[in-house]
Amino acid sequence: MKSFLILAIGAAFSICIFAQTQRLSYTDLQMKVLKEVPTQPTDPIVKTSEDWANVLNEQEFYVLRKSGTEPPHSAIYKQFAKQGEGVYYCSGCGAELFSSTTKFDSGSGWPSFYDGVMKNIKLDEDHHLGYKRVEVRCNKCDGHLGHVFEGESFNNPTDKRYCINGVCLSFVPAEAEKD
Ligand SMILES: [Zn+2]
Repeated sequence: MKSFLILAIGAAFSICIFAQTQRLSYTDLQMKVLKEVPTQPTDPIVKTSEDWANVLNEQEFYVLRKSGTEPPHSAIYKQFAKQGEGVYYCSGCGAELFSSTTKFDSGSGWPSFYDGVMKNIKLDEDHHLGYKRVEVRCNKCDGHLGHVFEGESFNNPTDKRYCINGVCLSFVPAEAEKD
């Protein structure tokens, strides 16, 4: 009876995970590419969960507002990997976050940078996985962006890896900024 119960609970849990994965489709998701620099927020942006749900797509809401994680090597990551020079802004509020000059290939399947625009980035301790990680959030809208890891010997100038979810970013190519 006990093993039956464990099996039943296990099956129910798997169905939940499956349903969650199915609901969030990243297969065709594309990063927003903007023609011009978004208006930079000066004050912190405070919205209700309902207001955020109205302005973000489902995947953005899940990552930015629910501290979710997009799957690695997603379509959006493949798009990111091919992008040339430009600047990355928060897809929630438009704050400038990262430059392509600090982008590097970490092999993780998520956008990686070795530095960011620190006035728009805040770092918080995160113990969700049972050990300490440093969470990266947008300093203007408080959206979850990813995590930062240090001392992994990637041989970059800061020895840091800002591991960022692609859905949190909007890209302005360098050519667009010159227009
Ligand atoms: Zn933001």
